[in-house]
Amino acid sequence: MQYGLGSRVRLMYKLPAKLEKFTPYEPLTGEYAVRLDVNESFLELPTEQVIRAVLDIDKVKLNRYPDPYACQVVNAFADLFGCDPRCVTAGNGSDELIGVITAGLLEKGDKVLTLSPDFTMYSFYAELYELQVHELPKGDDFIVNAGKVVAYIKENDIDCLMFSNPCNPTSLGLEMSGVLHILRSCPDTLIVVDEAYMDFWTNPQGHETESMLPETANHDNLIVLRTCSKSVALAGIRLGFAVANEHITRALRTVKSPFNVNAITQSIGAAILSDKVGYKQAITVLKENTHVLYTALNELAIFEELCDTKTNFVFAKTVHANEIYEHLFKKGIAVRCFPSHLRICAGSSDDMNILIKELKLWKKSKT
Ligand SMILES: *Cc1c(COP(=O)(O)O)cnc(C)c1O
Repeated sequence: MQYGLGSRVRLMYKLPAKLEKFTPYEPLTGEYAVRLDVNESFLELPTEQVIRAVLDIDKVKLNRYPDPYACQVVNAFADLFGCDPRCVTAGNGSDELIGVITAGLLEKGDKVLTLSPDFTMYSFYAELYELQVHELPKGDDFIVNAGKVVAYIKENDIDCLMFSNPCNPTSLGLEMSGVLHILRSCPDTLIVVDEAYMDFWTNPQGHETESMLPETANHDNLIVLRTCSKSVALAGIRLGFAVANEHITRALRTVKSPFNVNAITQSIGAAILSDKVGYKQAITVLKENTHVLYTALNELAIFEELCDTKTNFVFAKTVHANEIYEHLFKKGIAVRCFPSHLRICAGSSDDMNILIKELKLWKKSKT
């Protein structure tokens, strides 16, 4: 067909066919008495500190574009986690960084491996940017077998592996030795380790022992993602970080949108991340409450199995997942429902008491 001048053919804009397999993300909206469905921190940040950061008009100039490299908040993050600020890229949530990696560091048709079940944003962005998504199912125990992952990557010539560690939704973690085995065995594959919940996987002394952050400088194929949405209680301001060697960091900074992290987020993030004591205290409380939740769910004896959590939520197996979910939902309690599991995030003592009371009522209604 000819589309020259004078042609009568009307070109109509059509949405691309690739969008057909997407459905809009529809998070719960409306009011719930108790929200334990998206793994946020229930702790509220010191208001005064936040307000002071926002009102620091010498730093937050709203008529000016923000610092493209978000230096102040990147420095605070690097200082807190003991890494080199030159190896840190800030993002509008780690969500944005997953998009930046899939769009900018990979090419159409490249093969991305995900381990299922896992966080769904990896395959969402990979499909959006027309990468080829491979999914390697975990076993019934949800434990990641590093040897099997390596074999799959080699057999299928995988360009990028993305996985969360510890994992959302399973709450399980893969030890550092396993991640290192994958990294070293697959030097040509980009390995993206999303450590959104790593803050919670600490030893009794409060140290992270399985994080790959200290390893980022030693590998040409590693990106570690971290977020302020969970342990740092800043889901509302959208702030995440990608940590990688300088070479990869330069690439990330090149392909991200220049002013991706807004000035208010940068300022609040820097203020909160500079409070090392507050950060540690928050982790302690969140871990304690997760333990309380785990114990209470265990005592209820309505779940077939609870995964050994390394996160701030519990992944609980039950054939009644849907029924229990509906029961709680009607009472204004939001949890996350999977085909044969519920994912329940640690909340305040009051919220968890309400939850447990309702679960007991459900149990009673079945006997
Ligand atoms: C919650 C979560 C994130 C956080 O995303 P943000 O965009 O930083 O809020 C990233 N990865 C996983 C696995 C998560 O569960």
